[in-house]
Amino acid sequence: MRMANKKNKNNKHNNTHKHVYRKKKLPLRGKKVLKEKLQESGSQENGSQDNSKHLTGSRIMDLEQLQKFIEIMNTHSAVCEGSVTLNHEDRAGLASILSGHCEKCNQNVRLETSNKVKGPRGYHRFECNLAAVWGQMATGTGHSQLEESMSALGIPVMTKTSFISTERDIGESWKQMLLTSMAEAGQEEKRIAEERGSFHESVPAITVIVDGGWSKRSHKHSYNAKSGVAIIIGKATGKLLYKV
Ligand SMILES: [Zn+2]
Repeated sequence: MRMANKKNKNNKHNNTHKHVYRKKKLPLRGKKVLKEKLQESGSQENGSQDNSKHLTGSRIMDLEQLQKFIEIMNTHSAVCEGSVTLNHEDRAGLASILSGHCEKCNQNVRLETSNKVKGPRGYHRFECNLAAVWGQMATGTGHSQLEESMSALGIPVMTKTSFISTERDIGESWKQMLLTSMAEAGQEEKRIAEERGSFHESVPAITVIVDGGWSKRSHKHSYNAKSGVAIIIGKATGKLLYKV
């Protein structure tokens, strides 16, 4: 969803530059000039100016949210002939809360670009942020790669701190899913052993496959690492029972 911002048309900075969303430390004089410019344009120094300058580039849009917004617009158009202009944005990572205003009837409208879901640690997070971090974790990449890809598309991303916090949430979720899955696989192995009458001293006995490994060498030298990985798989189900 591309939205042009008239206020920024004469901005000498190239908004399509791939590093545009990275925070840069301005020299003191630069900060002073920027402050003066903001005051000249009659804008406030707080969030509104900072946020409205982001009304360029692209955003990821949830189609259900867009449909809700269209319905609000249709209702507005039925009673008012004025047009709604997007004039403010609060960003939350890849998600945005956009505000629009109709000057004729003075109505304000609001559009959240993503749905919110509850994470395993109880925090509500925007779906698109969870999905983006999930994708990076699944491909073995991180915040800087996400930022690089999204900046090429003109999509601002979350801060590194927010990325790490989301990553922790997803990691906790994956851990819980893994523990549940291993417990269920154990119950299934037990049931199969009981059905087959496989017992050892009255305890259901199962056959497992174990494998593991540890580092033996590194660059220009060999050694035995004290840590490693190991898994236990149930033979009857072929499912993971335990991992370390
Ligand atoms: Zn109106």
